[in-house]
Amino acid sequence: MGKMWCKRVGWIALISIFYAAGAFAQAVSVEGDFFPDILGYQTFKCDFHMHTVFSDGDVWPTLRVREAWSEGLDAIAITDHIESQQKAEYVKGDRNTSYQLAAQTGEQYGITVIPGGEITRSMPPGHLNALFIKDCNPLQTRRWQDAVAEVKKQDGILIWNHPGWERQQPDGIARWYPQHDSLLQMGILVGIEVVNGNDYYPEAHQWCLDKNLAMFGNTDVHSSIYDHPDVDIIKHRPMTLVFARDNSAAALREAIIDRRTCVYWNDFLIGEERFLRAIFDSAIVIKNRKADLIGRNSFRTQVINNSGFTFNLQLESLDPLVEYNRTIRLKPGSKNILSLRSRNSRQTIVEKVKIHYKITNMLVGPGKSLVIPVAFDLNIKAKE
Ligand SMILES: [Zn+2]
Ligand SMILES: [Zn+2]
Repeated sequence: MGKMWCKRVGWIALISIFYAAGAFAQAVSVEGDFFPDILGYQTFKCDFHMHTVFSDGDVWPTLRVREAWSEGLDAIAITDHIESQQKAEYVKGDRNTSYQLAAQTGEQYGITVIPGGEITRSMPPGHLNALFIKDCNPLQTRRWQDAVAEVKKQDGILIWNHPGWERQQPDGIARWYPQHDSLLQMGILVGIEVVNGNDYYPEAHQWCLDKNLAMFGNTDVHSSIYDHPDVDIIKHRPMTLVFARDNSAAALREAIIDRRTCVYWNDFLIGEERFLRAIFDSAIVIKNRKADLIGRNSFRTQVINNSGFTFNLQLESLDPLVEYNRTIRLKPGSKNILSLRSRNSRQTIVEKVKIHYKITNMLVGPGKSLVIPVAFDLNIKAKE
């Protein structure tokens, strides 16, 4: 009860901030965080793992669409457990019904609903989400291998869910098994949940890089998204960003198979370097790169963040000639100062330089931040 109250107060405070800060509200939509389109593709916010009353969830499928709409998502997958329908005494229908109900509402809201189901087996291979399948019912098989063969037959794909889930791996460490090799060899395993709810699996992050798999960040929500024990709705749910031609099921499928995804989780973006660098380059404008410095006077250039993501910059190494901001926090829709100052009032230098900032909340590998170069034309004059 206490937690719920805090959340409500949090919402009111958040809404007040949006109304109070006019400029801020203009730059950032209340409905969710904004990411730029990159590399000739549009950026779509997606969640490919959620449950309804048609397995062990608490909510009706259409609510999943409305929740997604409230958060500005573009696509969701309904992935009820295939092997168990705990509420069958009260809920009619088969393994396709939850998708069919959600898909109708999705059409009204402009949200793509992907047909899916969670193949729920012990480790290995653990839980696998079958996505883009045509008929969920034949996936109810005794052997998991037969369910996988059926996914393949239907031209579906698999993602490996929560590989370090503590009920299957008590130490929370994800482990790769020969069964996963065979799924890879079949060409059917195309991605792994690097993030599930509030859990991040560094091992899975590294496997995606080493084995060329798409990275996923999904909620696995069972109750209402507003009451998810692991997800702080004041921020946002974990989501998978997909870089695709459009948000049709076909274009999203093509993008996932081409590994064009990254993960938005808490304050972090997790993904391949090419995507994170493109997001930074598309979102950030550094206005003036010609720095005239006289004596110890500081030169200031403006750094504009045109996205809804907060970038946390940290200077990689100190420069012997010039002082730069050690850290800069680029909030959504903000204008910031990057200031340069000669270390010595008597030096005269004309030089092209490149400094490097680490973006501590953009992870290109486990424990590895994206590093971006910033070039300046320095024109330092000694003070007379
Ligand atoms: Zn699961
Ligand atoms: Zn699940």
